[in-house]
Amino acid sequence: MLPVVALVGRPNVGKSTLFNALTRSRDALVADLPGVTRDRHYGVCHLVEQRPFVVVDTGGLSGVDEGLDALTAQQVRLAIDEAQALVFVLDARDGLLPQDRAILDELRRSGKPIIAAVNKTDGLDEQAALAEFAAFGIAATLPLSAAHNRGTDRLLAALQPLLPEDTHEELAPDENDSIRVAIVGRPNAGKSTLVNRLLGEDRLIVSAVAGTTRDPIRVPLERDGRKYTLIDTAGVRRRARVEEAVEKFSVIKTLQSMAAAQVVVLMIDARENLADQDLTLIGHALEEGRALVIAVNKWDGLDAYQREQCQRALERRLQFVDWAKNVFISALHGSGLRELMRAVVRAHAAATRELGSSDLTRTLEKAYESYQPPLVRGHAPKLRFAHPGGSNPPTVVIHGSRTRHIAPAYQRYLENFFRKRYKLEGTPIRIVFREGE
Ligand code: GDP
Ligand code: GDP
Repeated sequence: MLPVVALVGRPNVGKSTLFNALTRSRDALVADLPGVTRDRHYGVCHLVEQRPFVVVDTGGLSGVDEGLDALTAQQVRLAIDEAQALVFVLDARDGLLPQDRAILDELRRSGKPIIAAVNKTDGLDEQAALAEFAAFGIAATLPLSAAHNRGTDRLLAALQPLLPEDTHEELAPDENDSIRVAIVGRPNAGKSTLVNRLLGEDRLIVSAVAGTTRDPIRVPLERDGRKYTLIDTAGVRRRARVEEAVEKFSVIKTLQSMAAAQVVVLMIDARENLADQDLTLIGHALEEGRALVIAVNKWDGLDAYQREQCQRALERRLQFVDWAKNVFISALHGSGLRELMRAVVRAHAAATRELGSSDLTRTLEKAYESYQPPLVRGHAPKLRFAHPGGSNPPTVVIHGSRTRHIAPAYQRYLENFFRKRYKLEGTPIRIVFREGE
């Protein structure tokens, strides 16, 4: 399970700037896709390759817990509660304010390790800037300039020892040959109904009892001769802990289960309009490079007109993931589930396809011949050869020159070209450019 780091501090100290620096997408293309909404508060930091973690920008704590502030404060406390480490962001230009002390008291009560990041030290004498905050007595007090991306490496290095060992790769033996699936979606989309339907009531309760809220619950499932592992779905947990009637929707848990999965099934409610939250979840799945299947639930009881309206709306708004299959299901009645699992298997197969170097290069040449990237100041970017750079998602590394200038539209063109050539349905493709050689 990915560890969690919360950024806390007064408004305007630079938390969201730091959040962006830490979570900037590995895949510039995703952030750029028309239609996808980037989550402003939750993201995954991949800057230390082997040790990704969830970053939560808690918004602002004012140090005064009243009215509207109390509501925000409650959210912040939830994030603090889920975090393994806290980054207390301070503003070197404002100096130490009484609110900072109030916030620090709150953070200390949590008992979690704290790193003080003194931001906006650009143009200031760092030592002098830090001196004022020494009064806090926080051992790790580091200078930062989030806006200029200075000090983030040191911050990352200080965070590493605070985060629990990544147990991400430690799979139970029988999970190795199974497809890891995360079923995600807004509250009431029908996740737990689906999980129960897939597993059958008795088995679910038995297998889920061992889990606590802290552990990701992995439940094995066998269907039509195929093995799956369902990861940490809200549905599994809810049934296991009956007293918890309505589980809070947790973006953190959703991110953690997406990270541990190979295929994400996004459940949406056919009776509701697609919400920003749905698009944000898709954005998260893409940033994590996960294969994606969209399960349009509650298809039962809709008339032909309603179905057509729904299909049209999805086509229009989900154009940016037109490679993800929409499967229309009724979790309640169990219809469409075979098709759903078939789409999961296909998406998994596409996501883990092995691509050959020479064939990739030939495909690249064909793509380049039929449409070249626009000139940059009179020079054409050159694309020389390609080789595979990993799977889930399939990654194509392209060597060439002036690749920095290749526009997102052209990158998308290449992506579509590769997708068609290899019939990569159900998975995003990552294209990485390398200069020279
Ligand atoms: P938040 O409210 O804590 O999320 O703060 P923001 O990230 O929105 O930043 C507040 C303001 O501080 C913005 O105008 C930023 O451009 C500015 N800012 C953020 N980081 C830095 C920095 O490292 N140096 C300077 N000089 N300004 C910064
Ligand atoms: P979750 O919050 O995503 O886990 O959603 P639940 O599984 O708890 O379902 C929310 C509500 O939708 C419940 O009242 C379910 O009975 C209902 N529901 C779930 N799936 C379907 C379906 O396929 N058709 C209909 N009509 N109702 C459904």
